[in-house]
Amino acid sequence: MSKEKKIYLSEKDMPTQWYNIVADMPNKPLPPLHPVTKQPVTADALAPLFPMELIKQEVSSDRWIDIPEEVQDLYKIWRPTPLHRAYNLEKALGTTAKIYYKNESVSYAGSHKPNTAIPQAYYNYKEGTKHITTETGAGQWGSALSYACNHFGIDLKVFMVKVSYFQKPYRKMLMNTWGADVIASPSHLTEAGRKILAEHPDSPGSLGMAISEAVEMAMKDDNTKYALGSVLNHVLLHQTVIGLESLKQLEIAGDYPDIVIGCFGGGSNFAGISFPFLKGNFTEGKQTRVIAAEPASCPKLTRGQFQYDFGDTEGFTPLLPMYTLGHNFVPDNIHAGGLRYHGAGSIVSQLLKDNLIEAQSVKQLETFEAGVLFARTEGIIPAPESTHAIAVAIREALKAKEEGSSKNILFNLSGHGFIDMAAYDQYFSGNLQDHEVTDAEIKESLSQLDKIL
Ligand SMILES: *Cc1c(COP(=O)(O)O)cnc(C)c1O
Repeated sequence: MSKEKKIYLSEKDMPTQWYNIVADMPNKPLPPLHPVTKQPVTADALAPLFPMELIKQEVSSDRWIDIPEEVQDLYKIWRPTPLHRAYNLEKALGTTAKIYYKNESVSYAGSHKPNTAIPQAYYNYKEGTKHITTETGAGQWGSALSYACNHFGIDLKVFMVKVSYFQKPYRKMLMNTWGADVIASPSHLTEAGRKILAEHPDSPGSLGMAISEAVEMAMKDDNTKYALGSVLNHVLLHQTVIGLESLKQLEIAGDYPDIVIGCFGGGSNFAGISFPFLKGNFTEGKQTRVIAAEPASCPKLTRGQFQYDFGDTEGFTPLLPMYTLGHNFVPDNIHAGGLRYHGAGSIVSQLLKDNLIEAQSVKQLETFEAGVLFARTEGIIPAPESTHAIAVAIREALKAKEEGSSKNILFNLSGHGFIDMAAYDQYFSGNLQDHEVTDAEIKESLSQLDKIL
C-alpha cells in the first residue's frame, strides 16, 4: 500500500473518452417534454438553443464518447487533478477510515465547472456559434464559461443573479477579465426580465429567473445559443473525467472506495465523481455506496417530489423528470449559492428513485464547521458548496470509527473558497444561521406544479 499524500496521473494517462452512465442504467431516464405540448421533445426543438453535437450527447446511450483532441489539450492546462489522502483530517477525527479527496479546485476558475465549459464552447465554435448566453448564481459557472468562450472567439453574455452581482463583485470582475459581458438579472434586456421587474421592481433575482432571461435571448436570435452549467445529461457526461481519473489514482494507491460523496446543486460534480464507480456497481458487482450531499435549506433529494418540472421560473425550458421542490421555490440565502437550485438532473433523479444512490442533507453551521476543520487540517479552504461533501465524509468517517471498521471514503472537493471568504467571516462572527424549510412550504410550492407523473 502506498503512503503517498497526493497521487498524480501523468497527462498521457488522462481519459480520452467520457463515460455515459445511461448505457448501464437499469431504468433509463424519462424523456424531457415540450413545455407547451407536453410531448417528448425532438432534437429539432432543442436546435435553437444548443449545437447538434451536444444535443446528440444529451440523448445518447453510447457507453463511451470520445473527448475531442482540442478539448483534451485544453483540459491539460489544469488536468489531471491530484487525488489526496487526507491523513491530517483522518488523524483529527481519530477515524479508522481512509479519506481520499479529488481536488477540482486547481482549475483556472477554482472549481470543476471548466470540465464542461471547455467542451460546450468547443462544440459551439465548431458549429459556427458567434454568441452564447448563460446564467450564473454566485458566478462560478459564468467565470468557467467566460475563459472557454474567449478562447474560441465566442462572445458571451452572462445573466448574473442580481443579489450576487452586488454582493460578489469579484466573480463579476473575473468574468470581465476573461472577456464576458455581465448583466444583473432580472434586467430590462428581455421580456421575462421586464415582466418580473414590473411586478417586483426590487427583485433580488434567482437562478430560475436568470435562466429564463438567457434562454429567451438565445431563442430570439439565430446566431445566439445558450449554455447550462449543470443538470443536463451532456453536462454530467463531461464531468465524468473526475471519477475516471480518481479510479486510476485509487488503483495506484491500491484502494477502491466503499463510499463516494459529492455535494449536490444540479448534480454535475456529484455525477462526475460517482458515475464511474456506479459503473463498477452495475457491471462488476462492486457495492460502493454513493451519497449526494445537499443543503437542508434546499432539500430536493431528501424531501422533494419526483415530478416533471421546469428548469426556470417562467417555464421556457423543457419539462424534465426530476426530484424538485417546484420551480417557484426560492431557497434561503445560504452561502453555498451553487446548491440553491430547486431541481436535479433527470439521470441522477432516476438513480435516486431506483435506490441506486443515497442523499443526505446538511445544515449550514455543520457545513462550515466541517469546512474549517478541513482548512485547519488539510490546508485548503473549501468552497461553501464543497463543505457539504466534507461534512458528509466526516459523518461517515465518525460512523466507521464507532463501528471500528476500515472504510475507504472518497469525496469530491468541487472548489476552493478564496472568493467566498465573507461567508467564513460571518461564520466566525456568529452571524450565520441554520435554515430549515417547513413541510408546509414544500407542499405549497409543489402544489403549483402540473401533475404529469
Ligand atoms: C456550481 C458548483 C457546485 C454545484 O453544482 P453541481 O452541478 O451540483 O456540481 C458545487 N460546487 C462548486 C464549487 C460549484 O461551483
